[in-house]
Amino acid sequence: MQQKLKRRPFGRTGLMVTELGFGAMNLRMLGSHEEARALVHHVLDQGVNLIDTARAYKGEIAPGVLLESEKIVGEVLRARPAPSEPLVIITKGHAYTIPEFERDLATSLETLGVTGKGNDMKIGDTPIRLVYLIHGISTERWAEAVSSGVLDRLQAAKREGVVHFLGFSSHYHFAKEIQEAIDTGVFDVTELPYNVFNRVLGEDGALDLLRYAHEHGMGVINMKAFDGNGMVPIWKNIQELVSFDYSAMLRFCLSNPYISTVDAGARYTAEYDLDVATALRPDVMTPAERDALKTEAGKIAGEMHNICRSCMHCTEKFECPQGVDFAHILSAFARYTVLDRLGKDTSGYAAQYEEFEIDAEACIECGACLPWCEYRIDIPKLLKQAHAAAKG
Ligand code: SF4
Ligand code: SF4
Repeated sequence: MQQKLKRRPFGRTGLMVTELGFGAMNLRMLGSHEEARALVHHVLDQGVNLIDTARAYKGEIAPGVLLESEKIVGEVLRARPAPSEPLVIITKGHAYTIPEFERDLATSLETLGVTGKGNDMKIGDTPIRLVYLIHGISTERWAEAVSSGVLDRLQAAKREGVVHFLGFSSHYHFAKEIQEAIDTGVFDVTELPYNVFNRVLGEDGALDLLRYAHEHGMGVINMKAFDGNGMVPIWKNIQELVSFDYSAMLRFCLSNPYISTVDAGARYTAEYDLDVATALRPDVMTPAERDALKTEAGKIAGEMHNICRSCMHCTEKFECPQGVDFAHILSAFARYTVLDRLGKDTSGYAAQYEEFEIDAEACIECGACLPWCEYRIDIPKLLKQAHAAAKG
């Protein structure tokens, strides 16, 4: 008999969620819609009961071919028989004003294929509990959300049964805004980054915000458990410097008692199977093991500083007015940087850089991109370095 994933309380929602969820952001990195649907089917076949998607999780997988994660999730659920219990669906919108919220929520409901309200809400034959998150609260976005009246509109949508629960996501640099958002009491759920390399929103912060959210009755989704998509190529280069593997990184997050579910963003079924096998282990990482892992991670923490994580969050709502594809240039440069720091072969980088039609020199340092980087890296400065490194 298939072993069942453990479940944890999801804050005051009253729901119990599998401690391993599925982050649908990386579906846009797959080669086809079929592959994406197959992966989501596989995830659900493992008994996972929380899928985390967003309006912005979409991308061109081939010229003119758009993949939208909400659409894939909806298609998969409509193709499946009715499960014995509701599935928890998280979606998010970059909606910080009432008109933006009205438009984004309506689009999400349509793209997912949601029917009904309240306890009758479904996608196909699958009953769902829909959690709507304000996507990526930053200083500017939070100020806009507070002043625009959208928080009242969100609560009205919850009362109307159009969404079941409310939440927000944010990133490392916005501890103050995260605390303020928790303190409003409006939100039932938060989604925050945390991993063995960066614990600033957890135990290393001036305030442990994971604990704070948990103690305020919120469900806590842990994203970036492996430090973002960019971790994969970068990891290939740095893994020989540390003695732990991905499983240990996942176990580290799972052993944090304030986290309800860890959002695994696997791209392949084999990756997800490894995550499931790790989550099924009966032994929880001990405090001593956690400390040892932190010490080990500290050896390479410097390699992770001020480099692009290839997360592509900045491309979801922003394009450089000068046409500089800064996210992909800096993604290539990040790989170069790690290889260079490790004294490895970097010869492929210059040719890769030449493929960009508009190079980094076109950047006029206007700074318009800066608020869109979730990691607050210095984009114009790094572009200069990326150009210099390529031109030797
Ligand atoms: S700082 Fe450079 S890369 Fe960023 S938006 Fe301005 S021109 Fe584009
Ligand atoms: S520039 Fe920032 S937001 Fe954009 S891909 Fe890099 S790390 Fe992510």
